Amino acid sequence: MIKTRFAPSPTGYLHVGGLRTALYCYLFARKNGGKFILRIEDTDQERYVEGAVENLINTLQWVGLTYDEGPTKNGKDIGGFGPYTQSKRTGIYRKYAQELIDKNHAYRCFCTKERLEEMRKHQEESHAAPMYDRKCLELPKSEIEANIKAGIPFVIRQKMPYETIKFKDLVRGTIQFDGKTVDDQILMKSDGFPTYHLANVVDDHLMEITHVIRGEEWLPSTPKHIALYKALNWNPPEFAHLPLLLNADKSKLSKRQGHVAVEEYIKEGYLKEAIINFVAFLGWNPGSGEENEIYTLDQLEKAFTLDKVHKAGAIFNLEKLDWFNWRWKKQKFLEKLKVLAEKIDRKIQISDEKSNQKFLTERGKCLYEECNKFLPEQYNLAEEKLFKTLVTVEEKILRNPKETEEHIKFYFSLPDYDKELLTHEKMGVDLELASRSLEIALKTLENVENWTENEIKIALAKAIEDNKLKTGQLLWPVRAGLSGLQFSPGAFEAAWALGKEETLARIKIALEKLKS
Ligand code: GLU
Repeated sequence: MIKTRFAPSPTGYLHVGGLRTALYCYLFARKNGGKFILRIEDTDQERYVEGAVENLINTLQWVGLTYDEGPTKNGKDIGGFGPYTQSKRTGIYRKYAQELIDKNHAYRCFCTKERLEEMRKHQEESHAAPMYDRKCLELPKSEIEANIKAGIPFVIRQKMPYETIKFKDLVRGTIQFDGKTVDDQILMKSDGFPTYHLANVVDDHLMEITHVIRGEEWLPSTPKHIALYKALNWNPPEFAHLPLLLNADKSKLSKRQGHVAVEEYIKEGYLKEAIINFVAFLGWNPGSGEENEIYTLDQLEKAFTLDKVHKAGAIFNLEKLDWFNWRWKKQKFLEKLKVLAEKIDRKIQISDEKSNQKFLTERGKCLYEECNKFLPEQYNLAEEKLFKTLVTVEEKILRNPKETEEHIKFYFSLPDYDKELLTHEKMGVDLELASRSLEIALKTLENVENWTENEIKIALAKAIEDNKLKTGQLLWPVRAGLSGLQFSPGAFEAAWALGKEETLARIKIALEKLKS
């Protein structure tokens, strides 16, 4: 059975790159009817962060990546291969470290920090690769025993085989390393804790992981791991190394471009669907000319294959995340509207005006839910009018609810503007024509009884035709006069949201301006 694992070190937050790894592991396991496990790699005790594991579990749960085995928040594990937290498994690692020593695949190293520093310095000066010089590789048994007896601290190092190490990466193809160029990695530290390398290999084997899917930064460690599998007489799993995440300038992803913690995006109000959708496309796409990029987690599960993962680094583009967020918000908003419409008319054939007005109010209320936390108090007083104004800037709210006020404030207080705003050179609207159009609009609108967008539209369209005007020649000055702005919602919508009285008043103000 296929088994993947997400094996984060609990640093206190979930890095977006970590989420991408977790997601691909999850998708690959689900797609193949396998299991996805969570393992906590906390052997670096110096980096211990209080509450980090709980936070990690919460974030994975929030985005919907459920795991079949792993630790839980109540401290109990699920699954039969635990414990799933490496700090609880140190005895296991010690046993395998001893086995490696016994089989001559590892050795004790008593070198002091000072000696190692000295060695590094020499290597740097002579431009040699920074590698352990194997001083302790062939220590006589008697010396080793005497050192241990004397309590001299030691680490256990892997004895890298001097041979070619070749493996097939499911993303990058065949990869080859010369064992001679790979450092003799520390496997056990002097405090008796394993390093990542030993613990990772031992756990992947004992937990029966079939596919190791992880970031490309672990590629240089892979020959060490493969050598360990061989030394312990184990079959290595398959490997798939995922492309690096990059800033827009192609440097390695850093906080410079924005947040790297998933939790920050959650706090900022990004939808989980958008986060997952965005992260899925960081280094993968369904290929075969498929243009749709909107995928639910379920759909990703069906579409995902490792052979469509890219080799080249993936640019972390925040605008794309915003785009996904907008698309998902819109989708959810439309679903909500559908439910509302169904309540008003079960067949969603809102054809009569009364139902339509009711629906528009509900629509406004829905938008209000999206943006109210960004609106200053005073707007809450104008409920009915507020809902209408929101409907006219729906798209903008769904894109960025924080900017709602900017788009609707003209409805509540007419900005001061120059009369030139009412003219439009290209459409041939000069001051005189603006004045004529506004007079026509005023008279027309005064006679509109039923103040709906549709009625307003019908009345003005007729006036345009009767007076042999071009559409823009009438609508530009009306729209500009109603909003006092160069850009705003269209004349019909704006008039509807303003209400009859305010619309007529604003047209009169525009006419006054033209007289002065
Ligand atoms: N603990 C490693 C990390 O923090 C896991 C790397 C791997 O998946 O092998 O990313």
